[in-house]
Amino acid sequence: MGNKPSAVESCLISAVGNDKGLIAAQSTIGYQLSHVKPYNLDIPVKPTAVAYPKTSEQVAAIVKCAVDNSLKVQPRGGGHSYANYGIGGEDGSIVVDLKNFQQFSMDKITWQATIGGGTLLDNVTKRLHENGKRAMAHGTCPQVGIGGHATIGGLGPSSRMWGSALDHVQEVEVVLANSSVVRASKDQNADVFWAMKGAGAGFGIITEFKVRTQAEPDQTTLYSYGIQAGSANDKATAFKKWQKLISDPDLSRKFASQFIMTELGVVVTGTFFGPQSEFDSLNISSRLPDADESVVVLDDWLGVVGHWAEDLALELAGDIQSNFYAKSLAYTKDDLIPDAGVDELFEYIDSTDKGTLAWFLIWDLEGGAINDVAPDATAYGHRDALFYHQVYAVNLFGRIDDTIRDFVTGLNKVVTDALGHDLGAYAGYVDRALGDDGASKYWGENLERLQQIKAVVDPGDVFHNPQSVRPKA
Ligand SMILES: Cc1cc2nc3c(=O)[nH]c(=O)nc-3n(C[C@H](O)[C@H](O)[C@H](O)COP(=O)(O)OP(=O)(O)OC[C@H]3O[C@@H](n4cnc5c(N)ncnc54)[C@H](O)[C@@H]3O)c2cc1C
Repeated sequence: MGNKPSAVESCLISAVGNDKGLIAAQSTIGYQLSHVKPYNLDIPVKPTAVAYPKTSEQVAAIVKCAVDNSLKVQPRGGGHSYANYGIGGEDGSIVVDLKNFQQFSMDKITWQATIGGGTLLDNVTKRLHENGKRAMAHGTCPQVGIGGHATIGGLGPSSRMWGSALDHVQEVEVVLANSSVVRASKDQNADVFWAMKGAGAGFGIITEFKVRTQAEPDQTTLYSYGIQAGSANDKATAFKKWQKLISDPDLSRKFASQFIMTELGVVVTGTFFGPQSEFDSLNISSRLPDADESVVVLDDWLGVVGHWAEDLALELAGDIQSNFYAKSLAYTKDDLIPDAGVDELFEYIDSTDKGTLAWFLIWDLEGGAINDVAPDATAYGHRDALFYHQVYAVNLFGRIDDTIRDFVTGLNKVVTDALGHDLGAYAGYVDRALGDDGASKYWGENLERLQQIKAVVDPGDVFHNPQSVRPKA
């Protein structure tokens, strides 16, 4: 920092016990590059300060400094918010970086794990594995943080069997807007717990998660079908078949699947959590068009999770900061795209100038155990979603321009027009362009209760980003 700290900087320094190394402010050399580190370069954000507390009490004292100086707060876990919400999403916030919260322990009787709020998914996987060969459901990007993931959803290949990441959470330690440090679970501070499971960023800072874990699967079959699809018509036919396959109500919960489209073509890929003989009995290839099949069987869980990280889309996104624009859309079992709509969609994709070669479109099968939980049991807003799509475009040469933006926006419009309605988006793929509609698109019918809880636990809207829940007036 510069020579003369401002009032807020002085407050933050005393909040962390005068350890200046734990606070970076706008005057700190290399502030944007080394401390702010926006994931989406297309959304510039300049926070007032970034703090690196080591204890929950320090987090609480930092929150108090922000309140006393009328500033907003956002915690940063893995820093992988699509709209940079981990650094506030707009200028002027105090960022509480949780990288020092790495505590881990495993109760070998209940198999409940305690995981520090700053742990990245990569380390979640490794620490669970090393402590009894346990696992939990989560997404595929190793650099995503459990902080932003298990407070918003956390959908991954094993979610059809085990639920979303937030469904694993049984208790948290959380710092609230009144700078108290409390435990929350279904038995204590139940409203806070409910809100943290789906809309956490607007309600507090989780410094510790307690999660249920599962035994690692013994054998896992990783499959991929490179679809031979040249024309828009071929691709549409492939998608119709995939959509029929994944909407089969008897489909095994051990079967995870994605339909991925890029400039290079179409791939149906995923994981079957069982041996190849069991996978083969599903006869998946006969339910898809002609394809180059590739199947790998692994009995090493770290190898399976490592394989997910080599995913096509993660090679474009993953840990690389870039200029990108993305949109998602939820579908229920009753909202399959009608055949004529599929034709129109693939025609649109084929004929539209995308403004970039670096784009992908993924349909992701969910459902299963995620949908066993009642829609109002947690704040997560899409318990009825059978699958989502996500369209994502990167500009490798500068800011996102209108051609790219129009392609992404237009694609969602073709689908919502074909469905006749818009069922909303996944809160994990925050989309700033949804503006004030974002909250209802993410949390649907749970929004009203969220606003009521917010009015009680954070009436001054301390925990804030451009689309977090606002207190009910
Ligand atoms: C490359 C990539 C791949 C992804 N893959 C998947 C996937 O497979 N499945 C899936 O479901 N999602 C996926 N996501 C989305 C991801 O789950 C969200 O972006 C998530 O919010 C990122 O969490 P983070 O901690 O890394 O990000 P951050 O930017 O640090 O945080 C995101 C939001 O969560 C808040 N937050 C962070 N930590 C805490 C905490 N401890 N307590 C309260 N609030 C907190 C932040 O303030 C911010 O508002 C992916 C994202 C990327 C960029």
